[in-house]
Amino acid sequence: MFENLTDRLEGVFKKLRGHGRLTEENIQEAMGEVRKALLEADVNFGVVKEFIAAVADKAIGREVLTSLSPGQQVVKIVHDELVALLGSQAEPLKLDGRQPVTIMLAGLQGSGKTTTAAKLARLLKEKGRAPLLVPADVYRPAAIEQLQVLGGQVGVPVFASTAEQKPVEIARQAFTAASTGPYDTVIFDTAGRLHVDDELMVELREISQAVPLSEILFVADAMTGQDAVTVAEKFNADLEITGVILTKMEGDARGGAALSVKKVTGKPIKFVGVGESVDALEVFHPDRTASRILGMGDVLSLIEKAEAVVDQKSAEQLAKKIQKNAFTLEDFLDQIQQIKKMGSLEQIMGMIPGINKLKQIKDAPQPDQKELIKTEAIIRSMTLKERRNHRIINARRRVRIAEGSGTSVAEVNRVLKSYTMMLKMMKTMKGKGIMTGGKRRKL
Ligand code: GDP
Repeated sequence: MFENLTDRLEGVFKKLRGHGRLTEENIQEAMGEVRKALLEADVNFGVVKEFIAAVADKAIGREVLTSLSPGQQVVKIVHDELVALLGSQAEPLKLDGRQPVTIMLAGLQGSGKTTTAAKLARLLKEKGRAPLLVPADVYRPAAIEQLQVLGGQVGVPVFASTAEQKPVEIARQAFTAASTGPYDTVIFDTAGRLHVDDELMVELREISQAVPLSEILFVADAMTGQDAVTVAEKFNADLEITGVILTKMEGDARGGAALSVKKVTGKPIKFVGVGESVDALEVFHPDRTASRILGMGDVLSLIEKAEAVVDQKSAEQLAKKIQKNAFTLEDFLDQIQQIKKMGSLEQIMGMIPGINKLKQIKDAPQPDQKELIKTEAIIRSMTLKERRNHRIINARRRVRIAEGSGTSVAEVNRVLKSYTMMLKMMKTMKGKGIMTGGKRRKL
């Protein structure tokens, strides 16, 4: 997500970092490069112009805070402007008020509506709601079946519509069924076309007049960049959308649609699709996204995720140990247990700022659950002394550990190697100033 833009912006800020004081000229030059980077990321031209003007205005002639270097100050201004551009804060779905809540998904064909309908239903079900999925795409062959299959996957009932019915008729019947049945949320999956056409808009308007809609969410493929924004404008003009869902964000290295759509349509991005599987839908957070774009990683998400399973105290202890180069095999064992709870190591590493720069992490083999269990067994077969000082583990001890854990010497060697690699990595991270703060540093 956003890799190209992040790389470009990191380059711009690196240059600024070298200056003790920033002159108007430095800032203008940097802004010229930010402008180029945004245009290359396919951000709307007008949006870029306004953005650069706002940043330059705030950066030039501003008192430099003593706690920040001038370069950092510019990064902070850019960060704040990016947050504003992306919509300031996460915009939740309108779930209170009239019940059942009704959500219509609209967008072009292939944008990801049907998939997103199921993802959204899953998310709402997890929150304790009782959704009903309604297939109202009677044109695309197999769209109804597709939603039925996806509904089965996420365990959400799918309204029994047929391709012979008119979409507005389906919507009306489904709304009545939901109002009298055990449902509190209705998600309508509608038909798309390859291009915007009047017939489609008439059909969608008919639905919106036939049933009271809580939300009309425009779904677009983020990778289509400015095209997605242009189509969003048309849908908004005709239908008064209430929000946007951008799909396929995980494959979007540029970010033009994400950075333009709120400003152009005035409507917030509410969710982003980040993969094909039914759990790959995330609430859109402007601040976290801005941090991610600036290469700070998604520290907040990481902290939230980590906090869910790691208690703060042991995290702090661990950070101290890393600081003091006192990370033992026992700590390694603890970490393995945490990782087992938290998800894939790669996913976690990806959220730490600056981590994409450390090639050895990217290239390091990612452990799977089976490997983790084996590693755990190997460390458990070591004596306390060995766990605290890996240097004493000689060939004889390795044979004993292998036997004790029911593995082989080669596997014991592999575990010791990944442990020493981890030690090395921690030293590198310390050297680069990563993980020294522990907290998300305010720029
Ligand atoms: P619809 O025509 O708008 O209903 O689009 P579909 O829901 O059928 O999606 C079109 C294609 O996009 C399917 O192959 C989906 O699996 C895929 N897709 C949808 N959302 C995402 C996403 O967030 N990431 C990725 N990689 N693929 C997605």
